[in-house]
Amino acid sequence: GEDKVHDSRKLIDQIYMLVRQECVRKGINVYIKTEDEPVTIFGNSDSFKNMFLNIITNAMEAMDKGGSLNITASYIDENRTCLNFKNTGERILEENLGKIFEPFFTTKERGTGLGLWLVYKEVIRNKGSIKVKNMADGVDVELILPSKPLED
Ligand code: ADP
Ligand code: MG
Repeated sequence: GEDKVHDSRKLIDQIYMLVRQECVRKGINVYIKTEDEPVTIFGNSDSFKNMFLNIITNAMEAMDKGGSLNITASYIDENRTCLNFKNTGERILEENLGKIFEPFFTTKERGTGLGLWLVYKEVIRNKGSIKVKNMADGVDVELILPSKPLED
């Protein structure tokens, strides 16, 4: 599809619907927090949904013993939106932080190592950026995406 302005909350909710049962089964509490007004993102909706599914799937796979996933959407300024996906669980080893976007890099027995590589490509295609950071009690994936069509 073509690039459009989307309500980030609606796309996140659509993906959450797909994984909700599995989250309940695994004992994962999911909190989605956005602002009162729609927090928009501009780009391709299939691309965004793919990105969210990959990031949320990784979070779920990091919480086999349960935990919590906090998703927030907010504006950085009038042109940029920030989406955070914070999950509790094991942190990423420092020596692996530089490799997680490489194709086929995985620490999982049955991982493909393609998820974050695909996310990275989609982020670039949509003129955004991505950072994966360790927190005290888990991992934070931060996506910055255009809120509206870029003027140039
Ligand atoms: P895969 O999920 O198939 O392993 P990905 O490209 O999606 O491949 O992720 C690469 C690696 O990054 C994972 O194997 C894991 O080590 C690490 N990773 C990604 N997301 C998380 C997360 N939320 N918590 C902990 N580790 C993560
Ligand atoms: Mg993955």
